[in-house]
Amino acid sequence: GFGQALLEDYADRLDTTGQEYIQRITGAAQRMDTLTQDLLAYCHLSRADLALKPVSLGAVMSAELTYLKDSLQEKQAQVVVDGPLPEVIGHHSTLTQVVANLIANGVKFVAPGVRPEVRVWSVKRAGWVRLCVEDNGIGIAPEYQDRIFRVFERLHGSETYPGTGVGLAIVRKGMERMGGRSGVESEVGKGSRFWIELPKA
Ligand code: ADP
Repeated sequence: GFGQALLEDYADRLDTTGQEYIQRITGAAQRMDTLTQDLLAYCHLSRADLALKPVSLGAVMSAELTYLKDSLQEKQAQVVVDGPLPEVIGHHSTLTQVVANLIANGVKFVAPGVRPEVRVWSVKRAGWVRLCVEDNGIGIAPEYQDRIFRVFERLHGSETYPGTGVGLAIVRKGMERMGGRSGVESEVGKGSRFWIELPKA
C-alpha cells in the first residue's frame, strides 16, 4: 500500500529507475500476499471440520462461471459445460474452491497464442459421480502427473505461467477431506483431463 502511495504521490521526485524499483517491490508484495492466502486456504482445509451434505455440482459450476465471466472474456477463453451436473455429497465452499482451481488451470496452461477451451461434464458410476475438466493446453508428462498435486510442485517458472503451486494441493486435500478422489489423464501437447469423484447424493 505504501509502495502504491509512493508511486502515486511522489512519482515526480523519483527517476524511472526509482519508479521501477517501487513497481518491483509492490509486485513482489502482491505475489507474497497471494501465496499467503493460498497457504492459509490449504492449512485451513487441513484442519477444518467439514459438514458433508448434498451439493449441486451444477449450481457450483454456474456460480463459478458467473464469477469468472470477465477474466474468461479477457483471455478469450471458452468454458463449456456438457449436460446437467448432478448432486453429490460434499462441502459447498470446498467444492467451489476445487472447481475454481481446476478451471483456472485449464485456462492458464495453454501454449502461447492458443485460445483456451475447457470442457466440463460428469459421469455417474456405481454410487459415485466423476466430474471431468478437460482443456486444450500444454499437457503434463506422465512422470509429473502425481507430483503436481503436492504443495509447491510447479513445472514452469512464474515468468512463463504465474502461480504459487498450491492450487492442485488444495484440490487433492479438499477431495480427501470430502471422502472423494482426484486425478489427471494427460499427454504432453494434447491437453489434460483432470477429474474429481464424490459420492452421489
Ligand atoms: P499453479 O497453478 O499455481 O502453478 P497448481 O498446484 O494449480 O499451481 O499446479 C501445479 C503445476 O501443475 C502447475 O504449475 C503446472 O505445471 C501443472 N498444471 C496444473 N494444471 C495444469 C493443466 N491444466 N495443464 C498443464 N499443466 C498443469
